[in-house]
Amino acid sequence: MPRRYHAGSCSSCRQGRLFLFRNLVTDDIYAHCEECEWGYLTPADIDTKGGFLTLLEEFDAEYAWNDSISRSVWANYTVVAVDDLDET
Ligand SMILES: [Zn+2]
Repeated sequence: MPRRYHAGSCSSCRQGRLFLFRNLVTDDIYAHCEECEWGYLTPADIDTKGGFLTLLEEFDAEYAWNDSISRSVWANYTVVAVDDLDET
């Protein structure tokens, strides 16, 4: 069963969870807010409210899996796995 990973709550809207995605063009792992569509390239961007509006970027992305997360800047950040079965 595939799992999705999120890095906690969005510091911009304080509502959405930050799901980790992989940019298929650059291979970067970034956190994408499910509510406000804000993106954070690094954990530091969450703290400083940096980041970018993902809607303005043109690239393909997919949910990031554990192996790519562990090789990214997110490896030492608190990442929570979400089982799709738990989504109701
Ligand atoms: Zn947000």
